[in-house]
Amino acid sequence: MKIKKFLFAFVVMILSGLFAFGQQANKKAAMHKKVQQHTDAIFDELVEVRRDFHVHPEVSGQEERTSQKIADYLLSLGLDVKTDIGGYGVVGILKGDNEGKAVAWRADIDAMASDIPDVVDFPSVNKGVRHICGHDVHTTVGLGIANVLSQQQEDLEGTVYFIFQPAEETYEGAKAMIDDGLWDIAHLDEIYGLHISPFPVGTVATKSGSVFAHTNRIKIVYKDPDNEESKIDFTKNLISGFQNVAADSKFWDWENLGDPEIGIENPNTIFTDFLTVRNKFGVEKTDDRVIITATLNSSDKEQLNSFLKTLKQKIENSQYSEDLVSTEYSYEKAVVVNDEELTNGSMNSISEIYGKNSVIPLYGVVTADRGDDFAYFQQQVPGVYYFLGGANYETGVISMPHSPDFAVDEESIRFGVNYFSSVLIDRLNDH
Ligand SMILES: [Zn+2]
Ligand SMILES: [Zn+2]
Repeated sequence: MKIKKFLFAFVVMILSGLFAFGQQANKKAAMHKKVQQHTDAIFDELVEVRRDFHVHPEVSGQEERTSQKIADYLLSLGLDVKTDIGGYGVVGILKGDNEGKAVAWRADIDAMASDIPDVVDFPSVNKGVRHICGHDVHTTVGLGIANVLSQQQEDLEGTVYFIFQPAEETYEGAKAMIDDGLWDIAHLDEIYGLHISPFPVGTVATKSGSVFAHTNRIKIVYKDPDNEESKIDFTKNLISGFQNVAADSKFWDWENLGDPEIGIENPNTIFTDFLTVRNKFGVEKTDDRVIITATLNSSDKEQLNSFLKTLKQKIENSQYSEDLVSTEYSYEKAVVVNDEELTNGSMNSISEIYGKNSVIPLYGVVTADRGDDFAYFQQQVPGVYYFLGGANYETGVISMPHSPDFAVDEESIRFGVNYFSSVLIDRLNDH
């Protein structure tokens, strides 16, 4: 009898658990459906918003008008809004009616100097300034997500912080916002952000770990400038010897980043496990010192750490051992590094809700000077940085950031708002 009672209680427990789980799944499915309805309803308005930003671009540190427009829009949605953070930074706070995590969406808002005329029929009216990095789209997607999620505030569990960051192009804005007390406003559990990219419109691409190459500058100091030329030659050769990419290889042609066979979306990509020496070596001579510098790019940090160690050992084992004063990284660029669990979780969300063709898992690392100061946020909060597809190869729109003929398929705004409103709902309402 007792066993029967126990079994009954057990079955009831399981069933009610399943019921609660089913209810939660149903609730989220309904929320994702509402996301798409709301996005469609505001899409035309968002295109207008984007074009307004595009017509009035402002360079890093001077985003006064842009910032005002953002604040006005967020206030009109009923969000709590903080302004002038680290320059013209804005934070919009959307508090769900239920307790939960604190998650941020970051958009960069600045434009760039460019004298080449716009290729679109809503050109910039600010001479010499253009949105050719797509931050007008990023800003609009951020506002769109804020709008869509604010319409489901009663079902949200937790708080979304919308961070509109100035001065990304100068790599200063993220740090400036942090230094100006961003974390006092937002105690974050997770942070997300995107960049428009030449992937096809309707897709989103990313990977866990490094997305852009790590960039470090090495500095080697010798004393005793006698026979300095041989010391310099020895060091240059030593460093060059670590390079594992041939100077005449396809690696150096950026077009190949998107090549289906060898580009970053192929598991056999050539843009992985690389260490390269960029630019020329710098050599500085003083009365008692010879200083040699070089910039290194690598797909992973470990490789750079072990390079520094091995290089030091090799010099210590050479005839120049006595002259060596120091080997160090004199500069290390903050680099986007995606959290593995959050990357997989969010890409699964998009794939499940919007179809598996909407996600492109990446395998390679974007080379050379590219990067995003979103990296500074990720140093303190786990997060994910995505490449949102903005290209339409049928209409000839290839949204390569910083290219003079940069243009975006504006449908990318619809996809961006849908995908990432859903990601944020899943991140907040996940149990
Ligand atoms: Zn840029
Ligand atoms: Zn950019």
